[in-house]
Amino acid sequence: MIAENLKRVREEIAEACLRAGRTPESVKLIAVSKTKPVSDVLEAFEAGQRVFGENYVQEWVTKFADETLQTLPIEWHFVGHLQTNKVRYVAEKISMIHGVDKFSLAEEISKRAKKHNRMIPILLEVNISAEGSKHGLAPDALFSEAEKIFPLPNVEVKGLMTIASPDREKVKAEFKQMRTLFEKLKAIAPKPDQITELSMGMSGDFDIAIAEGATLVRIGTAIFGERTA
Ligand SMILES: *Cc1c(COP(=O)(O)O)cnc(C)c1O
Repeated sequence: MIAENLKRVREEIAEACLRAGRTPESVKLIAVSKTKPVSDVLEAFEAGQRVFGENYVQEWVTKFADETLQTLPIEWHFVGHLQTNKVRYVAEKISMIHGVDKFSLAEEISKRAKKHNRMIPILLEVNISAEGSKHGLAPDALFSEAEKIFPLPNVEVKGLMTIASPDREKVKAEFKQMRTLFEKLKAIAPKPDQITELSMGMSGDFDIAIAEGATLVRIGTAIFGERTA
């Protein structure tokens, strides 16, 4: 079931790339395994998936400590909202943190990364749909916050992340705006070549995200099925 879903999702990604005149390799699939058991992660791994996303710290720490999962070459991304006081639990092993929405959080990530003698790739989260309930920087606050975050020694700003509004009608315009913000971020970055990632697109809208330039798509439901938790 998971293997079939993965195959279908990969095909849909490839088709969306083709339609957009992009190569399938230009989009990385992050399988979002939150609330799903270790056995599901293993099933996806056996079907060739190597990159996984989680968004609850405690759950990820538990999965990461799993005897079998621990031994596998999995790249873990933290895709959700990260509280500052939880950074220390993820700092040693996480491959990328997607939801950075303020300087103080980036500062804490940098501090904790330094303790482990590493550089942590991060994405700045933008609240593109301007819904009050969502996390993320307002588009007009993005660049001033980015200017403060760029000099931090142990984080590497790689680009932007967003969750679009649930209304498919609005999604295209939102992703388009993200692409524009991404280009502007690149233009003001001290190291423009480092700004390479645009994380947008979930089960319901990854086709549109790819058309608008997404490089990372975060897909849960279409691979693992509905979440009950
Ligand atoms: C849960 C989650 C996803 C995956 O959503 P699906 O609709 O299940 O594909 C992607 N990104 C974030 C930040 C999430 O929390």
